[in-house]
Amino acid sequence: MLRIIVCIKQVPETQEVRLDPVTHTLKREGVKAMINPFDLYALEEGLRVKEARGGKVTVLSMGPPQAEEALREALGFGADAAVLLSDRAFAGADTWATSLTLARAIEKLGGADLIFCGKQAIDGDTAQVGPEIAEHLNIPYVAWARKLTFNADDLLKVERLLDHGYDAVEVELPALITVVKEINEPRLPSFKAKLRAKKEPIPVWGLGDLGLPPEEVGLAGSFTQVVKVFPPPARGTSETWTGPPAELAARLWQRLQSLGPSVVFRK
Ligand SMILES: Cc1cc2nc3c(=O)[nH]c(=O)nc-3n(C[C@H](O)[C@H](O)[C@H](O)COP(=O)(O)OP(=O)(O)OC[C@H]3O[C@@H](n4cnc5c(N)ncnc54)[C@H](O)[C@@H]3O)c2cc1C
Repeated sequence: MLRIIVCIKQVPETQEVRLDPVTHTLKREGVKAMINPFDLYALEEGLRVKEARGGKVTVLSMGPPQAEEALREALGFGADAAVLLSDRAFAGADTWATSLTLARAIEKLGGADLIFCGKQAIDGDTAQVGPEIAEHLNIPYVAWARKLTFNADDLLKVERLLDHGYDAVEVELPALITVVKEINEPRLPSFKAKLRAKKEPIPVWGLGDLGLPPEEVGLAGSFTQVVKVFPPPARGTSETWTGPPAELAARLWQRLQSLGPSVVFRK
C-alpha cells in the first residue's frame, strides 16, 4: 500500500494582490483564496496512483488557520486524510523554513513512498519548496514531471518537461515529484467526497508537535528576507500604425532617432 503525500499551498485567488508598504508582505485579509493551481494536478496524480496501485493519499499544508479550507477542498476531490501545519511561529517562513517544516511533518506522518508537489506556487513562484523537502528527507526528486509510469513496484519512470521536449528518467521510491499541468486533467470534486470532507477532522500541528526548535521555523529559521516587494511599472501604451511600408519605415526611423544617442543604429 503506497503512502502518498500531496503538499498543497493556499494562494490568493486574484493577481491584484495588495502589499503592506511597511512589512512588504501580502495583505491577505479579505482576499479570496484557492488551492495553488499546480497542486490540483499534483493531487490528481496522487489519486490516480492510489487508484491504480492501492494506497492512501494525505494532503498537507502549512499556512494560516484558513488554509483548512484548501485541505477540505482537497478532501472533496478524494484525498483520504489531511493535516494542517499552523502556528504563529511558522509565520514569515521562507522556502527553506517552509520545506523543513513540511519535511518534519512528513516524518511525523511515518514517511511517504511518494510525495507530490506542484511545479511552483503562483504567488511565491520560487519552485524551491518541492526539491528542498526532498533534500531535508534525503530522498531523490524529479521536478517538472509530465508523465509517470511504474516500471516495477518501486521504480518509477518519469518524463520531465524541458523547453524543447522531455527527459526520460527513472527514480526509485521513496521519491518526490513536482508536476506540470501537462501531466493530467484534474477531476471535479465528487458530491459524496464533499459531504465527507465537511465532517472529516483535520488535525492542526504546531511547533510543539513537530519537535523543531523555534529558531528553525518561520522568520527566525529563514535565511532570506523580503527586502522590497513592488508591482512592476505599468507598460507604456502601444500604438498601431497603418500605411504604405515605405512611409511606415520612415516614420519608425524618425521615432527611433528621437530616442536619443543612447540608441545605436546601423543603416
Ligand atoms: C520574510 C518572508 C516572509 C514571508 N511571509 C509569508 C507569510 O507570512 N505567508 C506566506 O504564505 N508566505 C510567506 N512568505 C513566502 C514563503 O516563503 C513562500 O510562499 C513559501 O516558502 C513557499 O514558496 P513558494 O511560494 O515560492 O512555493 P514554491 O516553491 O513555488 O511551491 C512549490 C510547491 O511546493 C508546495 N508548497 C509550497 N508552499 C507550501 C505550503 N506552505 N504548504 C504546503 N505545500 C507548499 C506546493 O506543492 C507548491 O506547488 C514569506 C517569505 C519571506 C522571505
